[in-house]
Amino acid sequence: MSQQTQQTITLIGGGLVGALLAQQLAQRGFIVDVYEKRPDPRHAGFSGGRSINLALAERGLQALRTAGLAQDVLQRAVMMRGRMVHTPDGRSGLQRYGVDDSEVIWSVSRGALNMLLLDAAETAGVRFHFGQSLVDADFNARRIRLADEHGIERSIDAKVLIGADGAGSALRAAMNAYAPLGERVESLGHAYKELEIPPAGELSSDRLHDSGGHDQFALEPHALHIWPRGGYMCIALPNTEGSFTVTLFLPAQGAPPSFAQLPDAAHAAAFFREEFPDLLPLIPRFAEDYDSHPVGSLSTLYLDRWHLDGRALLIGDAAHAIVPFHGQGMNCGFEDTVTLAALLAESPQDTAEVFAEFQRIRQPNAYAIATMALENYVEMRDSVADPHYLAKRELGAL
Ligand code: FAD
Repeated sequence: MSQQTQQTITLIGGGLVGALLAQQLAQRGFIVDVYEKRPDPRHAGFSGGRSINLALAERGLQALRTAGLAQDVLQRAVMMRGRMVHTPDGRSGLQRYGVDDSEVIWSVSRGALNMLLLDAAETAGVRFHFGQSLVDADFNARRIRLADEHGIERSIDAKVLIGADGAGSALRAAMNAYAPLGERVESLGHAYKELEIPPAGELSSDRLHDSGGHDQFALEPHALHIWPRGGYMCIALPNTEGSFTVTLFLPAQGAPPSFAQLPDAAHAAAFFREEFPDLLPLIPRFAEDYDSHPVGSLSTLYLDRWHLDGRALLIGDAAHAIVPFHGQGMNCGFEDTVTLAALLAESPQDTAEVFAEFQRIRQPNAYAIATMALENYVEMRDSVADPHYLAKRELGAL
């Protein structure tokens, strides 16, 4: 892009998708200002609020390759070759994702990934403004109102706005108030809580299972572990330093087992002794984790419209938050960034056309993965442990 046509983009949210989009836009010559609600995690420490680690799959990896960041990210990731299914009788077996290591997924720390993307974006020339929360937008005046960490507000010009501010997007709320977006949020009715398996060195040897010869880890590290139990499940993803992040998925309300019926660690430990007897001994800080970690809700977001002509656009979770059972929310958001950066680079001044085209290309993909993610919850918590499923899988039918 020539200096004369240099376009300024105001991006709301410097999370995973916002930071990756910002880097690509800056690389293509855009002037990019990112306003991020939280303080700079590289100085203040990372406080993500959502999952501690994530599964990075080929779609997301391809986007990182386009941005020139794949190798850097993979150096900080743990390869997962398949699902390690733990049955109620304490047995486990690996169901590989592919015939060899060309078909694998990767476990990455949300905090480490976010910081790497912030560094890369800054190197590309992006200007970050941390501790700046979008409060409201005046789309007629093309200005936005921001609040700092002390609640002090100011207004700035923002001709072209992109909202990467996540599932609870403030930009989406402002756009919806100006001209309804056809928003529909479908709650799953199930929720999650995170717990931790520490590195093997922190556990006594009688608690350890089979770590596949990897002394640092309490379980086989190169797998996504699942304890399917029909209507609910636990999963665990490895972290580079030897720990695993365990996520318990349960109905939020209603008859046991549900989070409402397991209000504290004492109730939950009794439930784990019954349902996950092999997992409980691997979580020595179960009581602290259970009582201090929040219960997170899970929903799918559908919008008829992702943009307000050429003035504002939503991307990533702000446009299409999905349930996490295909491990594809971030991956899908990363794919968005590649499409949008390429379209904007082609027609930097024609944002109305670009935003419409972006929605036309990406919306069917986003809703396809939303449907698959909902279906996969049933598969993960139920069918993966079903002997008929296993027989079919062995025949290559699934
Ligand atoms: P976010 O990550 O939510 O980032 C939004 C950013 O905007 C944040 O930095 C926030 O501070 C900032 N912000 C918010 N409001 C404002 C405001 N008003 N002003 C300024 N800034 C603001 N996806 C996968 O691909 N693989 C997985 O394995 C996976 N596992 C998951 C597990 C769980 C339990 C959950 C809940 C989600 C999981 N996801 C996974 C989905 C993934 O977390 C999201 O798709 C991804 O974080 C979306 O990135 P984003 O940048 O759009 O939004």
